[in-house]
Amino acid sequence: MELRFSPLFSGSSGNAIYVGCDDAHILVDAGMSGTRVIQELCRVGVDPRRLSAILVTHEHADHIKGIGILSRKLDLPVFATEGTWRGMYAKIGPIADKNRIVIEADRDFFMGSIDVTPFSIPHDAAEPVGFTFGVDGAKLAIATDLGCIREGWFGHVLGADAVLLESNYDPDMLRAGPYPYELKQRILSRKGHLSNDDAGRAAAELALHGTRQIILGHLSKENNFPELAMRSCELYLQQAGVEPHEDVMLCVARRDGTTGMFSISAEMV
Ligand SMILES: [Zn+2]
Ligand SMILES: [Zn+2]
Repeated sequence: MELRFSPLFSGSSGNAIYVGCDDAHILVDAGMSGTRVIQELCRVGVDPRRLSAILVTHEHADHIKGIGILSRKLDLPVFATEGTWRGMYAKIGPIADKNRIVIEADRDFFMGSIDVTPFSIPHDAAEPVGFTFGVDGAKLAIATDLGCIREGWFGHVLGADAVLLESNYDPDMLRAGPYPYELKQRILSRKGHLSNDDAGRAAAELALHGTRQIILGHLSKENNFPELAMRSCELYLQQAGVEPHEDVMLCVARRDGTTGMFSISAEMV
């Protein structure tokens, strides 16, 4: 069976990703209004009424803005860690008891045929997680909002066929840019975000371990450009002997709308 996914929005201004197969349709985060998320789902051919659940990575506004409204409107269960529930509950409005599902890092569960594994990530939120999705030997990983590359989370992502990987900021743009000192320090910290250089190093390692699709995402609006993130990653890949766009598909997820529908299956690996 094929695993399909589509970054609907990706960036510091809002994130949502569709992941699905024939028997399950999942939304990961909903950091835009419910209306905008529904519009982008329809654009990639997913009927929002067929969604099975919303999974939440963490409680920052760019990941939860539309969650309450979508859960209420479509009667969708929301899956989040205990800490994320605590952090977001007051911000998303009432969620029906039956739709409040608590998950734990490293405890996988199935949605239809999709094996979902949440894994802990270093980020300044209560109990943030990334996710891997496996179907019939094909694997997708979502790894954004990461302060640094650590063995723990990287071990989950390594070996995935496709990875949505954070490439948040260009270090020079961040240092020279308009953000206040405290915010710069937060982004640069080990619980902030991955730079283009971090992403490039991670991408090279991933490609050397079999990843064939890398989508750079969660770019900062103020401290990055898509061309810069792409070029930086291409250089790191080439240094590692990997030819970008030949050995590995590489693209940058759009901030304001879907980047299109991608698919992976074990046969293509
Ligand atoms: Zn965050
Ligand atoms: Zn974020």
